[in-house]
Amino acid sequence: MKLLEDRIRQDGLVLPGDVLKVDAFLNHQVDPELMQAMGEEFGRLFKDEHITKVLTVESSGIAPAIMTALALKVPMIFARKHKSLTLTDNLYTAQVYSYTKRVNNDISIDKRFVDDNDRVLIIDDFLANGQAVKGLMEICQAANVEIGGVGVVIEKSFQKGHQMVLDAGIHLEALASVASLADNQVTFVDEL
Ligand code: 5GP
Repeated sequence: MKLLEDRIRQDGLVLPGDVLKVDAFLNHQVDPELMQAMGEEFGRLFKDEHITKVLTVESSGIAPAIMTALALKVPMIFARKHKSLTLTDNLYTAQVYSYTKRVNNDISIDKRFVDDNDRVLIIDDFLANGQAVKGLMEICQAANVEIGGVGVVIEKSFQKGHQMVLDAGIHLEALASVASLADNQVTFVDEL
């Protein structure tokens, strides 16, 4: 998506450890018009997947996910992060290792909000090693719902997550695919 690639070139910062900082429009300050355009693009890309719910994880997935849900006219659910869980009866829970924070989080959703007729679209801000998406996929499996696709705003295609999602046979779309962050430069896959 050209609009997003231009914005990453303009406002993105490359940090050590192959981290792309985009807190000027996605991870801290949020650009609503860009989020709306991205939601419409995800809506177009997944329009034939018969999606009934959009699923993400708090907090940075929420903005693109709500705009996608609006475009597809379905509800959005965000998995909540917990340090430790004592009461898990009414929750589907998975453990996720955070790429940027380097801690384990349990993420969970209330069982009331999904049923086995659902076909879910997983949306997240970044796809790196795929731990966040894997946790959301585990929740879908536990809930016995179909996964209609995975949409990420930015994927770092040189890390493991991209292949992990494809190996699972899932329809994957990234609005910007980063091929490399070497030498503090962002190189997109479509520039290679
Ligand atoms: P994964 O679980 O795929 O390894 O990492 C995905 C999560 O880590 C995303 O939800 C995002 O919060 C965070 N993340 C991973 N890589 C980056 C990055 O390069 N920049 C930013 N801002 N967040 C990242």
